[in-house]
Amino acid sequence: MTNRILLSSPHMGGTEQKYIQEAFDTNWIAPLGTNVDGFEQGLASYVKVKAASATSSGTGAIHLALDLLGVQAGDIVFCSTLTFIASANPILYLGATPVFIDSEEATWNMSPQALERALREAKADNALPKAVLIVNLYGQSARMDELMTLCNEYGVPVIEDAAESLGSLYKGKHSGTFGKLGIYSFNGNKIITTSGGGMLVSEDEQLIARSRFLATQARDAAKHYQHSVIGYNYRMSNVVAGIGRGQLEVLDERIAQKRAIFNRYESAFINVDGITMMPELEGTFSNRWLSTMTLDPKKIKTSPYELIDLLDAANIEARPVWKPLHMQPLLEGCKFYPHSEEQIISEKLFATGICLPSDSKMTAEEQEKVIEVIWEAVKRK
Ligand SMILES: *Cc1c(COP(=O)(O)O)cnc(C)c1O
Repeated sequence: MTNRILLSSPHMGGTEQKYIQEAFDTNWIAPLGTNVDGFEQGLASYVKVKAASATSSGTGAIHLALDLLGVQAGDIVFCSTLTFIASANPILYLGATPVFIDSEEATWNMSPQALERALREAKADNALPKAVLIVNLYGQSARMDELMTLCNEYGVPVIEDAAESLGSLYKGKHSGTFGKLGIYSFNGNKIITTSGGGMLVSEDEQLIARSRFLATQARDAAKHYQHSVIGYNYRMSNVVAGIGRGQLEVLDERIAQKRAIFNRYESAFINVDGITMMPELEGTFSNRWLSTMTLDPKKIKTSPYELIDLLDAANIEARPVWKPLHMQPLLEGCKFYPHSEEQIISEKLFATGICLPSDSKMTAEEQEKVIEVIWEAVKRK
C-alpha cells in the first residue's frame, strides 16, 4: 500500500505525543484527567459553546444525545437520509423508530420542504418526533435557519450530527452548535482524529453534566454502587484526549489544506461539461472534509463506480457518496419523505456522486496524478 493516495488519513501535528507523555508522567492514564479536561475546554472554546463532554466515539455521543432528550422505545426520531449509518444506529439501540428525510440540492443536507411535510403529517397523526437529527455532510452545513425555524415551530429539539463538519460555519456560527445538542467525531478519517473518539456539546451545562453521569455507568451519589437508570461506558480516555489536544492546535491548518485541495479540483474540472463539484451554500464556510463531485450521466459515460475502479488501478482511493439510509436493507420499511413528488435528491446524489482523495498529507503532485486519471476517464466515450 506504499504511495497509495488516500481518501483521508490521520495527520498528526507534532505535539500530540507531548500530551500523551504528560499523561504517562503523571500516571493519569485512565480514566479522565487533565487531557480530557483540556480537550473538552479547548474544543468548547474553539466552537464557542458553553459545555463539551469527550466520548469514546461520535456514535456514542449520538446515543447519549438521544438518551438525554428522553428518546425511548417506540418513540420516533427524524433523521437525514443521506449519511453514514452511525447517525441512525443509536436510534435503533434505543428501540426508537427512525423516519428519514431527503436532501436538497444546494447543501446535499436535510430538505426543509421535506421536513415541513413530515412535521405537518406527524402533528396531524399526533406522532411528532422526540428529536430531529440533522447531519452536515462532508463539511457542508445544512440550511440551519429554515430547519431550526421549523423544529422550533413544532417544539421538537434538534441534535446536530457535525461528525464531518468540525470548524465549518453557518452565517459565522459553528456547525454543531445550533441544536439542543451537537456531536463531533474524531474517528481516524475525520478532519482531526484521536484514533477514535467523539464530543458532545451544548449550551446547556446541566445536559452535559448529565451526559458525563450517563457515560460513566450512571452511578448514583451513594457510598455503595447504586444505579437507578441505564448507563453507558462512553468516556474518552486521558491518553486518547492527549492526541485530541495536539490535533486541535492544527485544526485551522487542516481546514486550509482541505479547502486548497477542493479548490485545485474545482479549477481542474471547471471546464469539464458534466462534472459538478459539491456546492457551498452562500453564507456558509465548509471545512471541505472530503472533496466531492457529481458526474452527469447524460454528459459523462464513465460511471462513478467505473471511475472509482480506474482510480484504484492507479493506486488512488475514492469512494461513492453515502448510500441513503432509506435504501439500506437494515432500515427497510422505514418511513421516508422525499424532497418533492418529482425528485428524490439523495438517490440522485448517491447514483452520481463520488468522494475524491482529500488527504491533507497529499502533495500537489499527487493530486495532479488524481486529476490526470479523472481527465482521461471522462474523455472516454
Ligand atoms: C464518522 C461519522 C459518525 C460516527 O462517528 P464515530 O466516531 O466513527 O463513531 C457519525 N455520523 C457521521 C455523519 C459520520 O461521518
